[in-house]
Amino acid sequence: MSQRMQQGQPMIVMSEDSQRVKDRDAQDYNIRAARAVAEAVRSTLGPKGMDKMLVDSMGSVTITNDGVTILKEMDIDNPTAEMIIEVAETQEDEAGDGTTTAVAIAGELLKNAEDLLEQEIHPTATIKGFHMAAEQAREEIDDIATEIDTDDEELLRKTAETSMTGKGAEVNKEHLSQLIVDAVGSVTVENDDGENVVDLEFLNIETQTGRGAGESELLEGGIVDKDPVHDNMPTEATDASILLLNDPIEVEETDIDTEVSVTDPGQLQQFLDREEKQLKDKVDHIASLGVDVVFCQKGIDDLAQHYLAKEGILAVRRAKKSDLEFLKEVVGANIVSDLESAEADDLGFGDVTRDDEDELFYVEGEGAHGVTLLLRGSTDHVVDELERGVQDALDVVAQTVSDGRVLAGGGAIEIELASRLRDYADSVSGREQLAVEAFADAVELVPRVLAENTGLDPIDTLVDLRSAHDDGQVHAGLNAWTGDVEDTFEAGIVEPAHAKEQAVTSASEAANLVLKIDDIIAAGDLSTDGDDEMDDMGGMGGMGGGMGGGMGGMM
Ligand code: ADP
Ligand code: MG
Repeated sequence: MSQRMQQGQPMIVMSEDSQRVKDRDAQDYNIRAARAVAEAVRSTLGPKGMDKMLVDSMGSVTITNDGVTILKEMDIDNPTAEMIIEVAETQEDEAGDGTTTAVAIAGELLKNAEDLLEQEIHPTATIKGFHMAAEQAREEIDDIATEIDTDDEELLRKTAETSMTGKGAEVNKEHLSQLIVDAVGSVTVENDDGENVVDLEFLNIETQTGRGAGESELLEGGIVDKDPVHDNMPTEATDASILLLNDPIEVEETDIDTEVSVTDPGQLQQFLDREEKQLKDKVDHIASLGVDVVFCQKGIDDLAQHYLAKEGILAVRRAKKSDLEFLKEVVGANIVSDLESAEADDLGFGDVTRDDEDELFYVEGEGAHGVTLLLRGSTDHVVDELERGVQDALDVVAQTVSDGRVLAGGGAIEIELASRLRDYADSVSGREQLAVEAFADAVELVPRVLAENTGLDPIDTLVDLRSAHDDGQVHAGLNAWTGDVEDTFEAGIVEPAHAKEQAVTSASEAANLVLKIDDIIAAGDLSTDGDDEMDDMGGMGGMGGGMGGGMGGMM
């Protein structure tokens, strides 16, 4: 496509297979795409939300309830839909939880914006109103939030439980939430201003299949899920000097590549001797530094293994890069990438112990910097979903510990927020007022969907919730376990304020981004057939790359 000026008018020359959609059509198109994405994850919201089974092109299966995971795996190739997926990713990065909420609100904002468009309200007014509402919402959330004592373990456990529920952690939620709170506690330091600073870098998550989630544990130090390279090596070492090596203990490549033409057996022997000597030198160098344990990211030659065993050195090969990086913190070592240049200063110190049952090493550093959360689950699918839930909960607890502000969950915050935004709308003049009201309605999607996913009538629940809030019950929410409208804060359904602020912010930013577009110029084909497909997106059928397919019939 090229642009030319003709008689002072810009003229756009488009190639034959490119397409252009403008104004209301463009807005319709975008809103439908964005809503389809939002609808795909809605049914997973809350503790009673359903899971999705995602099968990728290689046939590998993920079963999850996690918004961002679902959207990432869906492999959607529609530009508008991708903007909404970015909401989930931003939410994940900034808050670690609340991805489904953010995406669902974004979808609902756009749905309501569509109604405003139909009433001939210009998108500019809607965008401005949404922006004002989001700003007000952040203020209100801060006002509604409860400041907690960040040492209050019970409350921290509750935030962890609230975040994990629905993600395969139910049965063991008490045990797991305690581990999560302990884990965050062990990587939290108070800075000079008396603020808590949580450094999750020092927290490592490892997963093991075979045993139940109830046997998950928090360990000082790191884990290496490997065997010693040689049977005659020690399997444990206390007060050990530890070498972290990112260099193979093998014959140098160049020597292997050299072509040797052997004219007599003596020459071959000489060549082998040279290789042997090279390996021996390497091991001697390691031994001379006083090394007791080597964790090597690369390979270790058989002969080198033998020499190491003879020196009484415990060696592990092909250790994971991430493990080495974590161990570096745990034992206070440098990762050596050139063995020859290794010095005693590069070594770390600690205890290495062997867990024979799980066939892994525990590595505990002398200063005990860093902890490992070892998650167990019966199968890969179970443990993977558990890890996603625990990851969210860790972020939630970390946020709560550093920020100290929490909210009542189960839709309580959303109902209160909506009601306050409606009051605020009264003070807004012009068409923006309608947009602020539309924003308030959109936020209420959360309790509505929570009710729906719990199998309750969403209208009844909403009526109950609203009337409780009108009576001044700021914490009235839906308890999905009992199905009752009650004080969810008291019931232990507690969420961090920061995640909610972020959800509202990113949802409105994404909606505004979509609304600003009045012209779509596509190099390829925008439409194919199948108009009703969009509405089925919640069922995920044909989602992979097929989003474009749902846009048909619109042009
Ligand atoms: P997200 O990806 O947005 O975090 P979740 O599926 O984790 O989505 O659901 C979070 C929502 O579930 C929050 O609104 C939270 O308040 C709500 N929730 C969590 N536990 C309960 C519960 N026991 N009863 C009702 N709502 C709950
Ligand atoms: Mg969540």
